[in-house]
Amino acid sequence: LTVTVTGATGFIATELVKQLLEKGYDVRGTVRSLKNEEKVAHLKALDAALPGNLTLHEADLLQEGSFDDVVKGSEYVFHTASPFFMGDSPDAQKDLVDPAVMGTTTVLRSVSKSKDTVKRVVLTSSVAAIMKMKKGPLKGKVYTDKDWNDENTVSDGPYQYSKTEAEKAARSLAEKDGFEIVTIHPAFVMGPVTANRADATSINTMKGFVEHGEYSFFPWHCDVRDIARAHILAAEVPAATGRYIVAQPPVPTKYISQVLSEHFPQYKFPPGKDDDSSETSYDVSKAEKELGLQMHPLHETYIDMVTTLIQRGIAK
Ligand code: NDP
Repeated sequence: LTVTVTGATGFIATELVKQLLEKGYDVRGTVRSLKNEEKVAHLKALDAALPGNLTLHEADLLQEGSFDDVVKGSEYVFHTASPFFMGDSPDAQKDLVDPAVMGTTTVLRSVSKSKDTVKRVVLTSSVAAIMKMKKGPLKGKVYTDKDWNDENTVSDGPYQYSKTEAEKAARSLAEKDGFEIVTIHPAFVMGPVTANRADATSINTMKGFVEHGEYSFFPWHCDVRDIARAHILAAEVPAATGRYIVAQPPVPTKYISQVLSEHFPQYKFPPGKDDDSSETSYDVSKAEKELGLQMHPLHETYIDMVTTLIQRGIAK
């Protein structure tokens, strides 16, 4: 079976490509540029080592029709490519919102042209499209797939805004053009890294914590392996539909520090902090029941992430 993964170079997409290759799929991965060997070397290594077959294709999120050829003949399309950063941007519309929203529309218009072969699109959305955080965590709130974060704007929470608007655009196009779409809503994704890049927000955040004790963690986490598996299940399980949140209960950085300190006694980790978000959570029963998803315990997620960061020389 042939499938497409957009933004194959990303942290989540790399794990997705890996699991698809392990299952023997023919994977078409899209990248911004094939010339940047550093960004694609790990993908080529996965292709060489695993049963499936990977081909890489250049495609531009902002160029209409750019995905037509790659999507054609794919059974499932996994659209993961989207900028993910939370810091300031001089032009958030151009840097975050356009690639997210127009990019999604570009990819899905190509799907519309091939809807005779594409059985389903799986879109990487986020809990950012679900949870309202402008006034801080809502104590006692359990977020479900029915919740929409419609409170951010391009100038106030542009990343959250980009994810909500991209999902809305995707859902409306799927309804208008008549193809299936399922969305995955990860919390902050942690877990083992397969590339040597450190520029993904997830990787950068853990690196910052390990090296400098920076505490900027959004406290709801999940494992990259579970997110990749959720994407594949969302495609393969015939009855999968709607939105699937994948998140663990909130974790204070103090816990992460304890886990890492016990496992790596030779390193000194920052002590971390308590967190006041423990009364806000996500209902993940839909993913557990309908997809059969079982999540890694978070201590494994942190240990495996830091193990691979050290092995690859990303964290010192
Ligand atoms: P990465 O930064 O590792 O990957 C992002 C991917 O999107 C890369 O392939 C990147 O290409 C591509 N991309 C980014 N900006 C553009 C652009 N302007 N034009 C074309 N391609 C672009 O992030 P993640 O793997 O963490 O994120 C993947 C998806 O998961 C995103 O949709 C993100 O919103 C979502 N997500 C992530 C979470 C997390 O905690 N990591 C949580 C919830 C959702 P290149 O390699 O060339 O830079």
